[in-house]
Amino acid sequence: MSSALRKEYLAALGLETWTLRGPAAAPEPVAAPREAAYDWPQLRERVAACTRCGLSATRTQTVFGVGNLHAEWLVVGEAPGAEEDRQGEPFVGRAGQLLNAMLRAIGLKREQVYIANVLKCRPPQNRDPVASETMECLPFLDRQIALLRPKIMLVVGRIAAQNLLRTDAKLGALRQQVHSFGASGVPLVVTYHPAYLLRSPAEKRKAWEDLKFAREVFARG
Ligand code: SF4
Repeated sequence: MSSALRKEYLAALGLETWTLRGPAAAPEPVAAPREAAYDWPQLRERVAACTRCGLSATRTQTVFGVGNLHAEWLVVGEAPGAEEDRQGEPFVGRAGQLLNAMLRAIGLKREQVYIANVLKCRPPQNRDPVASETMECLPFLDRQIALLRPKIMLVVGRIAAQNLLRTDAKLGALRQQVHSFGASGVPLVVTYHPAYLLRSPAEKRKAWEDLKFAREVFARG
């Protein structure tokens, strides 16, 4: 049936708004992750405007990450807290001061490293992130890692470690091992979150062991 005749036929039936399907279309190629080509400024802009998850409604601002764009060390935490949400920078306030002291203890200045979180927006009342939030946000961190190409990742806290290593193992079981991050294979070492260490100072000794371990892993290259 010609196309004109088909239209006339459908019109006669009162079905003129229907369209007949042609041959099944080839499936769309799977799109590359949306962030894959962004440079630093584009990625920062993209994060600042992001509304992919519900945390966009409750944040004061996004917390992109901070530090040296040529850093060899990447520190990754869970998500911004109240102070970070206010200032727009990760690891500020008391937990940030403790992180700076931890870094200094292994000979690193804050300005030498890059610091980011798995989530770029603060979960209300500092609750744990839900799976859909981390799933939406992780591509931003993946792109940060791809741009930075760090020599080592120091991951602080259970939530960040579990998300980056795709495991539900407890933090205690993840410490003192060299993990490997994703396809890039960046060596990854896990330790306690400074906010936890402020609440549980007795664990600082273990964190010190982890930091020394991370320094050895880095030195081994
Ligand atoms: S947490 Fe991440 S995915 Fe959710 S709105 Fe913020 S930037 Fe977007």
